[in-house]
Amino acid sequence: MNKINYNDIFKEFLDSRVIIAGPCSVENEKQINQIAESISELGLKFFRAGAFKPRTSSSSFQGLGLVGLELIRKAADRNNLLVVSEILDTSHIGECYDMIDIVQIGSRNMAAYSLLKNIGKATAKDKKPVLLKRGFNATLNEMISAAEYITNEGNPNVLLCLRGIRTFEQIDSDMRFTPDLGSILELKYKTNLPIIFDPSHAGGDAKYVEMLAKTALFLGANGLLVETHNEPEKALTDGKQSIKPDILKNIVNYRNSILRDYE
Ligand code: PEP
Ligand code: MN
Repeated sequence: MNKINYNDIFKEFLDSRVIIAGPCSVENEKQINQIAESISELGLKFFRAGAFKPRTSSSSFQGLGLVGLELIRKAADRNNLLVVSEILDTSHIGECYDMIDIVQIGSRNMAAYSLLKNIGKATAKDKKPVLLKRGFNATLNEMISAAEYITNEGNPNVLLCLRGIRTFEQIDSDMRFTPDLGSILELKYKTNLPIIFDPSHAGGDAKYVEMLAKTALFLGANGLLVETHNEPEKALTDGKQSIKPDILKNIVNYRNSILRDYE
């Protein structure tokens, strides 16, 4: 494989509107290959799937781990895609690093400062972008400070990912979190880092994903992270909020129309 210039990859996020898509979790070889194929057919380049899953309940499916990450890498290579995947713990960095192109840090780990520093150190050499998800109880300034733990170690390529926050609305709201769409606007004034919006965890239901995704793009998000599954009803994690490739296609078309008509 050609050597990838990760500074160029990061620049793509700054200059364009990037859609990252894939299933919440890798489940088996057939599932991951099928979804990778669908993502690639839509002309997308970034394939996100989780092998190590940060689950609220310790008895829920925790992901396939390293074996799963190998399946994600193979599916991505077969379809000419780059891999976005979460590293959950410092102890996993060594064995996972070479298989991942963009390192995700999950919402629950946004304030795991030792992990942030270690990911910052690991990525300082090749400048692999780090996708940092907002803690669901974190302020924007706390998120920016968390990003600095990474940039201070020598990697400036951090992507800030908004994914919904917990507010009083969750007492009786149908949405899993409160979509932090206004934060797209505010972050644009507060930082120069690319802003990614995750409509899947924010809304928590497939029926909200398309509109949230389009709205985020309309508001100026540099990119999206969209959970996509060929058979959401069978997904082991986050099936309720996963859209099928045909809905993803509507989002891609909208993105393309923005690029064509306005940029
Ligand atoms: C995920 O991206 O699948 C995930 C678990 O997200 P978050 O860390 O935002 O909850
Ligand atoms: Mn998920």
